Amino acid sequence: MPDEPYDVIIIGAGPAGLAAGLYAARDRYATLLLEKNGLPGGQILLTEHIENYPGYETVGGPELVQHMQKQVEQFDAEIAINKAVTGLKRRDDGMIEVDVNDGETTYETEAVILSPGSDYRQLGLPGEDVMRQATRVSYCATCDGAFYRDKHVLCIGGGNTAVEDTLYLATRFTAKTTLIHRRMEFRAQKVLVEELYAKADENNIDIKLPYVATEIVPNAAGDAIDHVKVRNVETDAIEELKVDGVFIFVGMVPNTSWLEGFVPLDANGYIAADPITMKTPTPGVWVAGDCRQDAAMQLATACADGVTAAMGLKEYFRDFPDSESWAGVEPEAIEKDQVRGY
Ligand SMILES: Cc1cc2nc3c(=O)[nH]c(=O)nc-3n(C[C@H](O)[C@H](O)[C@H](O)COP(=O)(O)OP(=O)(O)OC[C@H]3O[C@@H](n4cnc5c(N)ncnc54)[C@H](O)[C@@H]3O)c2cc1C
Repeated sequence: MPDEPYDVIIIGAGPAGLAAGLYAARDRYATLLLEKNGLPGGQILLTEHIENYPGYETVGGPELVQHMQKQVEQFDAEIAINKAVTGLKRRDDGMIEVDVNDGETTYETEAVILSPGSDYRQLGLPGEDVMRQATRVSYCATCDGAFYRDKHVLCIGGGNTAVEDTLYLATRFTAKTTLIHRRMEFRAQKVLVEELYAKADENNIDIKLPYVATEIVPNAAGDAIDHVKVRNVETDAIEELKVDGVFIFVGMVPNTSWLEGFVPLDANGYIAADPITMKTPTPGVWVAGDCRQDAAMQLATACADGVTAAMGLKEYFRDFPDSESWAGVEPEAIEKDQVRGY
């Protein structure tokens, strides 16, 4: 166990964690960020084109992360990489023990900010990964829609996000949008589906049901999509679609399974918290970023969550409960379907 306990440990050094770390360390709390990857930065490392982070007309993710890391470290926050947190435990004296994946180290802290993010669910298609790296496959219309002005994109999915974001792309940016879904019925709310069909013709949206994508085929240079193969689920017929980009909207997976029992998670695994203070019902524990229930899943909002969470530390440390009052304190028991804000 490291010698001194920390005032606050931040789990996940993506934008939310780095923003929280900046505020916590600048307020002179002994701050440690634990990051499971070999680099801090989170999802934003995966993109070279950010146009919607205030203060930068355009900036690459890795460059922005470098600035964020430098800024955090200048206030003496520690960032420990290759440390995946596997579990948290509250002791009777109120301290929280943080276990990491080396099976040996346990850190001690008075407060925790949870910022492990969420991952976009991928389809695992041949060509998906290589075209994602070439920035031709995206999972976020708000992030990347503006790069497809007057282009043809293929959207994949049948839920609310798929329908809403197809409309978003088609009405604002694209010349043509094809939407495929593997079933004959969309899962999205009826009102959204009605809007989709009502606006399809005037916005050049081609809806193909029931279809699945089977392969994203790169061009010879490997820097753009040549075509996407899609299969009609009923007839097995394969078609080749010439598109400039693919948007995959098949959900997100929050990185929170290891938190079960320590903080309340909603039915999809997102961490429930007060949406104004970021406080979870577990004392001394805040949440920030894409792992939070109802998060906007954006860089700027993840940073804002991190700042808000770290600002809660002052009040908490002013009133830090004495050790006797911690014996037997358990997180509030809440049914999963009731979990919604606090
Ligand atoms: C390709 C791409 C392009 C994007 N473009 C834009 C854009 O243009 N504009 C925009 O606003 N948003 C964009 N986004 C979304 C934006 O990146 C996210 O909203 C933002 O990164 C969320 O920040 P976060 O800190 O909550 O989570 P993440 O960025 O997911 O960071 C979480 C961090 O926690 C770490 N972690 C997870 N589990 C553990 C654990 N158990 N222990 C320790 N560490 C852990 C992860 O390794 C990761 O580093 C994009 C996302 C992607 C993937």
